Parts: sequence; C-alpha cells; structure tokens
Amino acid sequence: MLHTAFVALGSNLEEPLLQVRSAFDELNSIPETTLIKKSGIYRSVPMGPQDQPDFINAVAQISTELSPFELLKELQKIENNHKRVRKIHWGPRTLDLDLILYDQEIINTEILTVPHPGLALRSFVLKPMMDINPKLATPLNKTIEELFINIDCSDLKIIDNDL
Ligand code: AMP
Repeated sequence: MLHTAFVALGSNLEEPLLQVRSAFDELNSIPETTLIKKSGIYRSVPMGPQDQPDFINAVAQISTELSPFELLKELQKIENNHKRVRKIHWGPRTLDLDLILYDQEIINTEILTVPHPGLALRSFVLKPMMDINPKLATPLNKTIEELFINIDCSDLKIIDNDL
C-alpha cells in the first residue's frame, strides 16, 4: 500500500545547498519510494547556538510502501552517507532528515515521534509545507495553513524556488 510522507531537510555544513539538492535525489532512491514534490529551498537563522552558519531548509513529499520505522532507517542511512557530525544538540550538521508526517498517523515511541514535534512550531518546516500543500490536513486537527497563521517567518529567506 502506498503511503504519503513528508520529510524535512536541513543542512548548515559543507555546501549545504548541494547537500539538500542531493538529498532530494537520494530520497527518490529509497527502495519502494518516490519523490513526489519538492518545496522551495530556504535559508534560516540557526535555532540554539548562534555561532554557526545559517541553515538551508526544504521539505519533500514522498510516496512510499515502507513503514514509518523502515523509512526512518532509510533516512538515517542517507544522513550517515552525508557524514553527519552530531556533537552538539542543535549544533551544526551536514544533513538532517526528519520525518514530519506519515499519512494521518500519530506515532509516539522512543525512536519515532510523528507528527514531528517541530511541525507546529518551526517556520522552516511550515513555510516549505505551505509551498507543497497549504490545505493538507494533519493529525493535529489543523491544516498546514491553519498551523502557519501564527508563525513568524522573519528568520527565513527563499533562495531557490524549485517547485
Ligand atoms: P535529531 O538530532 O533531531 O535528528 O534527532 C535524531 C533522533 O530523533 C533519532 O535518534 C530518531 O530516532 C529520533 N526521532 C524521533 N522522531 C523522529 C522523527 N519524526 N524524524 C526523525 N527522527 C526522529
């Protein structure tokens, strides 16, 4: 059975724009998975420690036959291939892939929380989600555009409109 999932991409090390562009292709290479839509690509000011480069952020819509847990494993493989450095919480990273939504499922386990807790809070997730589908329903009982209404996007700049 085909499922619809949304993955947030983020990078702020080693040519972040290239990291994110190639991650879109790698998502399309996950077994039983197809890249359906790409958001625009944004530059954002880092959360947490400020003495690190800006982030490049985007969101991908994919369709997949994998379970959410199988998909998480594949996302982590891609992160590892990008030699992700993870020393500081919210510190710099070459590539971060977060599973934001998986159909309308709610998952709360030790290794996986879906919807991702950042969905309702983060401009760099919601703005790209708006590019893809503002009318999309979420398990938070609000559509993407309803979640987006109170979000401050002053920390965000579009750098590549690749829709
Ligand atoms: P982070 O440093 O933010 O990428 O966190 C990575 C950890 O978050 C991994 O060990 C995952 O098991 C866990 N995690 C929980 N929920 C999610 C999610 N929705 N997407 C990606 N990682 C998740």
